[in-house]
Amino acid sequence: MPLTTSSTLLSASTTGDTPLILLVDDVPANLDVLVDQLAQENIDIRVALSGEEGLQLANILRPDLILLDIMMPGIDGYEVCKRLKLDPELADIPVVFLTAKDEEIEVERGFSLGAVDYIHKPFSMPILKARVRSHLALKRKNDMLEQLACTDALTQIANRRHFDLSLKREVQRAQRYKQPLSLILLDVDFFKRYNDQFGHCAGDNCLQIIATVLKAHLRRPSDMVARYGGEEFAVLLPDTKLEGALKYAEKLRQSVVELAIPAASANNEVVTISLGVATANATMDATTLLQAADTQLYRAKHAGRNQVAAEGFPT
Ligand code: GH3
Ligand code: MG
Ligand code: MG
Repeated sequence: MPLTTSSTLLSASTTGDTPLILLVDDVPANLDVLVDQLAQENIDIRVALSGEEGLQLANILRPDLILLDIMMPGIDGYEVCKRLKLDPELADIPVVFLTAKDEEIEVERGFSLGAVDYIHKPFSMPILKARVRSHLALKRKNDMLEQLACTDALTQIANRRHFDLSLKREVQRAQRYKQPLSLILLDVDFFKRYNDQFGHCAGDNCLQIIATVLKAHLRRPSDMVARYGGEEFAVLLPDTKLEGALKYAEKLRQSVVELAIPAASANNEVVTISLGVATANATMDATTLLQAADTQLYRAKHAGRNQVAAEGFPT
C-alpha cells in the first residue's frame, strides 16, 4: 500500500477496537513498508508530513501511539513531543522517536522530553513491530486503569476523584474564557429510611437507576455527572448560565419522580431528589462554587425536599 499525499487514511477499518498510530515524517516514502506491515496487523495508521500537521492530527484523532521523526522542516520532532506533553489532553499518548539521529545525547534528549522509546532508522522490521505491539498493549492497559480510577464502581458514572479534577479544570477554563459555569448538587431524599425498609441491595439498585437517568440527560460532551458521595450526585455544566441550569435541574427532578420508584412508607409515594444550583462568577474558585451549591441543596431540603433551589430561587 503506497503512501500518498498528506494525512491519508491508510486503513479503512477504523473501529473503536483497532489501535490507531500517527506517523509524523516529512519523507514518508521510506516508510511504505512499515505502513504496509502495520496495516496487516490490524493497526490503523495515519500519516502527517510535518510537525504542525502532526500536532493537528494528534488533537483530532487522539491516536494510541505516535511515531515521530526528529528532523523535519518547520517544527522538529523534539518540539512536537514537547508540545504534546504540555497538553493535558494529549500528554498520555506514548511517543516513539523514529529517526536517523543516534548520538547518545540525542537519544537522551528524546527521553527527557517524555518519549517512551527511540528507534533508529534504518530499523529492523520485526523489532519495530514488536516494540509497537508492546507500546500499544501498555497504552491499552493504562487506558483501562485510568478508566477504572475515574469510575464509580456501583453506578459506572464518574467518581469523586474524577469530578474534583474536572471541576478544577472547568473553573480555570470558565475564568480564562469568561464563561459561566453551573453546578448542581443533588441528594436522594429520605434515603436512610429507604435502605432501612427495603434493604441495602434495593438501595444500591435505586442509586444505579438514578445515576442512569442523570447520565441520560447530559446534552453536551463537556457536561458531566458524578457520584459525589453516598446518595449525593453532582452535575457540572460548563458554559451554562444559572437560568439554564435551573431548568436542567428541574428536568432532572421530574425525571426521578417519573421513575416512580416506590418510596419508604411515611414519606412521599415515590423516591425523590433535592437539588441545589449555583453558577460561578468570574472570580469564584472551585471550593466556593461547591459551597454555594451545597448551601442551596440545604435550602431545598429544608423547604420540604423534592425541589430545586438556587440563590434568589425560589425567593
Ligand atoms: P435527607 O432527605 O435529609 O437526605 O435524608 P437521608 O436519609 O437521605 O440522609 P442521610 O444522610 O441521613 O442518609 C443517607 C443514607 O444513604 C444513609 C446511607 O446508608 C445511604 N447510602 C449512602 N451510600 C449508599 C450506598 O452506596 N448504597 C446504599 N444502599 N445506601 C447508601
Ligand atoms: Mg439524602
Ligand atoms: Mg446525603
